[in-house]
Amino acid sequence: MFAEVFMAKIIAIANQKGGVGKTTTAVNLAASIAAAEKKTLLFDIDPQANATSGVGCDSKHSEKTTYEVLIGTVEASSAILQTSMPFLSLIPSHINLVGADIEIVNEHNRERKLHNALEQVRKKFDYIVIDCPPSLSLITLNALTAADSVLIPVQCEYYALEGLGQLLNTINMVKKTFNPNLDIEGVLMTMFDSRLRLSNQIVDEVKKYFGEKVFSTIVSRNVRLSEAPSFGKPILLYDALSSGTKHYMELAQEILKNHAKTSAHHAAHAKQHVSAVA
Ligand code: ADP
Ligand code: MG
Repeated sequence: MFAEVFMAKIIAIANQKGGVGKTTTAVNLAASIAAAEKKTLLFDIDPQANATSGVGCDSKHSEKTTYEVLIGTVEASSAILQTSMPFLSLIPSHINLVGADIEIVNEHNRERKLHNALEQVRKKFDYIVIDCPPSLSLITLNALTAADSVLIPVQCEYYALEGLGQLLNTINMVKKTFNPNLDIEGVLMTMFDSRLRLSNQIVDEVKKYFGEKVFSTIVSRNVRLSEAPSFGKPILLYDALSSGTKHYMELAQEILKNHAKTSAHHAAHAKQHVSAVA
């Protein structure tokens, strides 16, 4: 009845703590979704540019990066690079993104810059995965405003829950002010070590707090995951038989299934609505 305009689902990977597995998750989730032949865009918005080098791209001499996209001098579509995986594209980051917050802070719609930049690009992909910096800066606010959902990696470590309250407050503020449809995709436990009682305790504690929002997939500590970036490869190209590959493929399946479920729900809802009107 309605011509459906297809739009990519946008997932922001966020946690203001550094070293919790955001970039590892962004790179390997994006690669695993791409391996399922969904057109996927990895969007690196961290000035550290680890996701960019993590998929084997180099933006050192590029003038078409997230920075230019954010300040609006380059269209997002012309900043897209092809990676070595057929279904995986990238918008690369660059260290010059460090100062971008300050450059846009006085602009009208400063929180919607990425949202607006992605408007055209959204139609070309099935999924867009955003790797956020370790802060709740204006750039992260832009990602949360552009996203359909946020995936929160939590490291199985002491103080795992520390800072999550602040992150949830920020998510709620974004929902109220800029993006009422923002969902929590899920909380992903990372760097799990089954030999440590602590790891299990942390998972229990996080489950007490987040309940069903915790993904069934738990990513174990796997040295192959930490080696792969120095070869510029997602884990599934670096070591297809590693536990890292298995876990990130499982996570991708979980997310694809959840999306199919909610899309079916929305379609049924729309149909009901149409027949009610008819
Ligand atoms: P963030 O982006 O949140 O700062 P990273 O993804 O860069 O975190 O991860 C921090 C460090 O931990 C990196 O050196 C990364 O290679 C390593 N790492 C992440 N996940 C795992 C894992 N499951 N097993 C082993 N090392 C990991
Ligand atoms: Mg990172």
